[in-house]
Parts: sequence; structure tokens; C-alpha cells
Amino acid sequence: MHKTINKSERYKRQIVLPEIGEAGQARINAASVLVIGAGGLGCPVLLYLAAAGVGHIGIVDFDSVDETNLQRQILFNINDIGANKAQAAAAHLHVLNPDITIEAFSVALDNSNVEELFNRFDLVIDGTDNFATKFLINDAAVKTSTPFIYGSILGFDGQVSVFGVPDEPCYRCLFPESPKGHIPNCAEAGVIGAVAGMIGTVQAMEAIKMIAPHDSFQPLAGRLLTVDMHSMQTRVLTLSKNPDCPVCSKNKEDIILEHTSPMCSIIPEISVDQVQHKNDARLIDVRERDEWDVGHIDGADHIALSWLMAGNVPDIDKDQGIILYCQKGMRSLQAAQYLAGLGFSNLRNMTGGYEQWLGLGDV
Ligand SMILES: [Zn+2]
Repeated sequence: MHKTINKSERYKRQIVLPEIGEAGQARINAASVLVIGAGGLGCPVLLYLAAAGVGHIGIVDFDSVDETNLQRQILFNINDIGANKAQAAAAHLHVLNPDITIEAFSVALDNSNVEELFNRFDLVIDGTDNFATKFLINDAAVKTSTPFIYGSILGFDGQVSVFGVPDEPCYRCLFPESPKGHIPNCAEAGVIGAVAGMIGTVQAMEAIKMIAPHDSFQPLAGRLLTVDMHSMQTRVLTLSKNPDCPVCSKNKEDIILEHTSPMCSIIPEISVDQVQHKNDARLIDVRERDEWDVGHIDGADHIALSWLMAGNVPDIDKDQGIILYCQKGMRSLQAAQYLAGLGFSNLRNMTGGYEQWLGLGDV
């Protein structure tokens, strides 16, 4: 039993916003959103969307809650340990908002179920931490014309974008093939809960903007938000559609959905120490202009990630040795994956980035 709550009371604080109003609230109540993964990103997304009154929420997660999850997966508590995440999340959200429909899918998303699931929802939220599933989500989103809110975190860096919107770039426009670099997941790389919380919250906000559009809203379709939570430096990079994209340039019926096992083959890393003694490779700094201006490695070339991802491919021989660096190593890995997808074959990522380089003098 729950107390009967007057719906207009529950949503009063958002209905009063001129950008939302009664019409926006009606859209939110009528919307259906599928959240893939009830983890560090999925938990804040689910809490905010259920609280806002999204009328139908689906949760896909085959995993069960363990003690190491509690530090960031804020829907769960010690009583949930061992329970399936999708079911435990659904139970908690039902207490928060009994007026909405919540469906738990205790399955792993794969090519046998993805299309059917996506066809049942207006919007998908990517709360996953592996590339294989992100690719599957992207490909199914394009095939079924279901936009998805992408989110990812690594250390103190986070990113959000909206992909799968017709005529806008998709995730594969950025990364045509499964990445050849090893991207550590949270278990390997470590994560602070608030970093996941911040990115998940941005994803929830993007979802609301997509569900209840307003002239003043600019969803992140065609743009990539990056946040470095060391400094709270945020950037919004403009993305361009790749006319040769292996997914969104095709007819929808020709898109084949595949779920490859997580790829961990390597874009080789190279240490700062090795870079100092390596003279035959081109060293490229992919940070933005203001960062480059503050300081950079002597002899490096500057090709900002934002410039690269806007479709400006450097005029460099594809088998030329290239070492990429950024501030800490994440953006340069992204640049390396992008270039690898374009056929560059001799790429290395400088571990720890410019900060590691600067730290050399101290050791
Ligand atoms: Zn594409």
C-alpha cells in the first residue's frame, strides 16, 4: 500500500517551468524509455526519470548486485546484495513512483533480443561500460530509428552524446569499427560514484529534452560533451556524419546486428620514457588550442580532437608511425581509435598524457 499522491502535486515543481508546462509533463508521462544497465550510470538515470514521471521505464540488466557496486550504484543497499539488478532497481523505483510502469528485463542485451526491445520504447539510454554493447546499441538504434543517449566514464573523464537521431551522426560515424585499443572498465580503472552520477544525471536531462522538446532545448545530437572532473573543464565537440559510416549510411534493412565479445586487442600504449627516446614517429597533441598554448611537448604537432572529429583527417601517410597524446590519455586513445578506423595502422597512445610527461622531472 502506498499513500495516494496527487499527481499534479508530485510534478508541480517541473510543470511550473515554462519549458515544461502541462504539455511537457503530459509528454513525459506518455514516454517510454529503455535503460540498458542499472549500474553507475543507470542508477541516477533511473531515479531521475522515474521521479520525473516517465510513464514506462524498461531496465535491462542480467547482473546481480554485489558489495563493490554500492559505492556508486545508488539505487541499491545492503539488502539487495545477490539480487538481480533490474529487478531490485524496479522494486526501489516502484516505491519512489508507483504511478508509472516499470519493467525489469533480467537478460543480457544481445542480437537476439535487441530489436524487439528497442521497438517497444521511444528512447534508449546507454548505461553500459563495454564497447561491444555500445556498438550493438548504436546499430540497433539506427536500424529501429530509436535515438539513444550515450554516456561513458573513465577515471575522472566523462562524455555524453545523443546518437541514432535521423540525419545526425551515429556512434559508428566516430568509431567505424570495434576499437582496437583496450579501454579499461570501471572494475579495472577505478571510479568515484559522483563521476558516474554526474554523467548519468546529464543523460537523464538529455532524455527529458528529447521526450519533451522545447525551442530552447538543444539536445546533444551531433555534439559530444566532455567533462574532466579534475578541473570541471567541459567542452562540447561538434561531430560530423561520416558519409561512409558502416551503419548509418546503409539502408536500415541492410544493417546486421552483431554482438561481438568485448574487444581488448590493443592500440599499443607507449610510456613517456619511451617517447623521449623515439624519434622516428610523429608526435601529435590532440588537446584543444587553449591547452596546447599553455604548454606542449617540443616537436609535437597539434591536431585537436575536436578538429579531427569534425572530419579533418590529417594528411599523413597511413603507415607512418604516430604517437598520440592528450592531457591524461583518454582523448588521445579516442583519436587513435578514430584514426585506426580510417586505416592508420601504426598508432600508439602515450600513457598518462601530458601530465605524466610533466611529472617526469619529479621521479
Ligand atoms: Zn553513422
